[in-house]
Amino acid sequence: MHTDPRPGPAVARSPGRRCRAPLFSPALFDFWASRLSSTWTWNRPLARIVAREPAASDAVSLVLKPNRHFRGFAPGQHLNLGVEIDGRRVTRSYSPSALAGPDGSFRITVKAINGGKVSTHLRDVARVGDVLAIGDAFGELAFPADDGAPRLLLAAGSGITPMMAIFASLAMQPNPAPTTLLYFTRTRGQRCFVDELRAIAAANPALQVRFALTRDQALDQDEAEGRLNADQLAPWRDKTTHVLACGPTGFVATARDLLADRTASFAAESFSPPVHHDTEAGSVELTLARSGRKLQVARGKPLLEALEAAGLSPAAGCRRGLCNTCACGKSAGSTRHLLTGDEEHEPVSALRLCVSSARSDLVLDL
Ligand SMILES: Cc1cc2nc3c(=O)[nH]c(=O)nc-3n(C[C@H](O)[C@H](O)[C@H](O)COP(=O)(O)OP(=O)(O)OC[C@H]3O[C@@H](n4cnc5c(N)ncnc54)[C@H](O)[C@@H]3O)c2cc1C
Repeated sequence: MHTDPRPGPAVARSPGRRCRAPLFSPALFDFWASRLSSTWTWNRPLARIVAREPAASDAVSLVLKPNRHFRGFAPGQHLNLGVEIDGRRVTRSYSPSALAGPDGSFRITVKAINGGKVSTHLRDVARVGDVLAIGDAFGELAFPADDGAPRLLLAAGSGITPMMAIFASLAMQPNPAPTTLLYFTRTRGQRCFVDELRAIAAANPALQVRFALTRDQALDQDEAEGRLNADQLAPWRDKTTHVLACGPTGFVATARDLLADRTASFAAESFSPPVHHDTEAGSVELTLARSGRKLQVARGKPLLEALEAAGLSPAAGCRRGLCNTCACGKSAGSTRHLLTGDEEHEPVSALRLCVSSARSDLVLDL
């Protein structure tokens, strides 16, 4: 079973590192080193939970202190986190919700999803002292170089986490471009970082925060009611603003529709799982070239889920097509990208299992 939550292909190691390879295997080194300290490893990044606190009615913040193998992150990036649940390593992605501290520690904030394996574990079970596997940071949610043009950050639900880190990084700049963060939640109690955001806005005239509530009344001056809409966004639909958006798929799609062609730049990421095309009836034959195994898989289903349902554990990370951990080669057949709807008929190509479904019989390099 794959247990390393690092995204992408195996990380290239320097020749120096190769020369210094231990006489015994890294796994054996890790086993004995962990007797001395739970985060000592040969080269695997791990992090210890050093603090936890409620972040909202349904969210918890954890402060993680990584070991020396973690390479850090840029504000707006994410990382894969591996958690041991019922004896199995489960990997999900989370976005640091603050800049790293001087000792390298950083905060993640997890919104518990009803019935969610990892999010409820992190909220209800994970304790200070627990050690988690972490991967290298990934993701490209960032503003273009500062050209003085106005900026807009749009966040909904747990999409606030990378935006919080970006907003905090702007607050560290001597003269940030005028930036507004518009943060949507259903209720007031579901908001995270309210005091922190307000303190940043109060200390920086260029940085503003607005809270939008879709199921609660607006009471404060920086609050409004309602969903994302064209009227609300009118001040930024001017071809000069740079926009970043993060939230559920529907929110990101609305933001894209309302802004993408009307702003200087637009980039967005969604944390929601890809949509299944249940309308695609029937099944196809999937051949795993390395093992020679053949499976019947439903046409509209993500290949990753189909493989997992067959009892296999292919390498996987974010499950949203972002981290590249599940990239694999295809040597025959057609697939559909579940996020864009694009079809790929080129027989020999690479795909990401989490956001691809089969259109025809397939041969994968697995
Ligand atoms: C790049 C990236 C960064 C992320 N950063 C954060 C973060 O900073 N904070 C955070 O709280 N979450 C974040 N997420 C979401 C996180 O990775 C998990 O998907 C989420 O915590 C649910 O995992 P789970 O194991 O609890 O749910 P699962 O057991 O995987 O799923 C349970 C049910 O919930 C649904 N579901 C899964 N994820 C979501 C979701 N995000 N929204 C709505 N329904 C969902 C599933 O379809 C399923 O029906 C991020 C996701 C990505 C891809």
